[in-house]
Amino acid sequence: HYNFCAGPAALPVAVLERARDELLDYRGRGLSVMEMSHRSAEFNEIAERAERDLRDLLAIPDNYRVLFLQGGATLQFAMLPYNLLGQGGTPNYIDTGIWSKKAIDEAKRLFSAHIAASSRDNGLSAVPRPEAIALSDDAAYLHYTGNETIGGLEFDYIPELPEDVPLVCDLSSSILSRPLDVSRFGVIYAGAQKNIGPAGLTVVILRDDLLERGRADMPSLFSYQAMSEAGSMVNTPPTYAWYLAGLVFQWLKNEVGGLAAMADINRRKAQKLYRAIDESQLYSNPIDPVNRSWMNVPFVLAEERLNAGFLEQAEQAGLLNLKGHRSVGGMRASLYNAVPEEGVEALIGFMREFERKNA
Ligand code: PLP
Repeated sequence: HYNFCAGPAALPVAVLERARDELLDYRGRGLSVMEMSHRSAEFNEIAERAERDLRDLLAIPDNYRVLFLQGGATLQFAMLPYNLLGQGGTPNYIDTGIWSKKAIDEAKRLFSAHIAASSRDNGLSAVPRPEAIALSDDAAYLHYTGNETIGGLEFDYIPELPEDVPLVCDLSSSILSRPLDVSRFGVIYAGAQKNIGPAGLTVVILRDDLLERGRADMPSLFSYQAMSEAGSMVNTPPTYAWYLAGLVFQWLKNEVGGLAAMADINRRKAQKLYRAIDESQLYSNPIDPVNRSWMNVPFVLAEERLNAGFLEQAEQAGLLNLKGHRSVGGMRASLYNAVPEEGVEALIGFMREFERKNA
């Protein structure tokens, strides 16, 4: 079987096997990681190793903190303004689709938001070009969604900002898919359940000078500063998800060979599938080729009446979770790191055969 779910997504088989082998007795300690105190030496070693491996993978500079939090990427939509608006100013956002809109709506509910650029006028088929980004005078930060998981729209560049305006990016669905220049960002965050590990964990990477910018009136669990000072353990962290994320980082380093190697594989996977879609009469994807997502490939069938049969036969062929998001319909194949190239080839073979049979 190949799992094309958008999230929670496929995990590498080698990671699941190792978790299975260590499930009841972690390295002869006589207990499961799930049963360990988060303050124990054993768990500390797991937690620190995970952070070190993530730092290695992304070459995270020393002046950045890495936090392992809960609440999903959605809680970051709220934590961000709380943590970056302590000195006032207006949060700025780029609107490229459903996820950026959710981040904007949350900021507006709590504070306010200036839309610095939007893809609405091109029907969400391309990201705004850099010259279209118009910050407000008092911009406290600029937030964008690096990869729109539902629309399948991915930035092909990192916005360039005045030095005093931190760049904030939701990389939930594309972190670790390729190398990244972390030093360009003030804050990066990602829900874990795509390329990092199981749901329940959220990774935040932030430049340490920004820890000073938080509002005084927030709950301690919201505070990047409090979390950072406590090593992400103000309260009990999601220990098992943290451990599994650590196994995924080890897999990426040791089995895949790092993010440049991962990027080569991901580029090939995406190119093959988009080519197959473009060459067919039945399938189509509306996104400007420069902004086509490597991780989430939405496509529609020319005839809607074929949708149910497509999904049913795909499932019979072991190709799971190809149904598009409920808000947009159609199909979506998510090609996260754990989906092997053979899975994409199997999908393409199935799509060609289905088109031939239904021509
Ligand atoms: N941002 C993006 C880009 C996403 O894809 C998702 C979920 O799929 C979210 C935010 C919300 O994440 P969570 O469910 O972890 O809150």
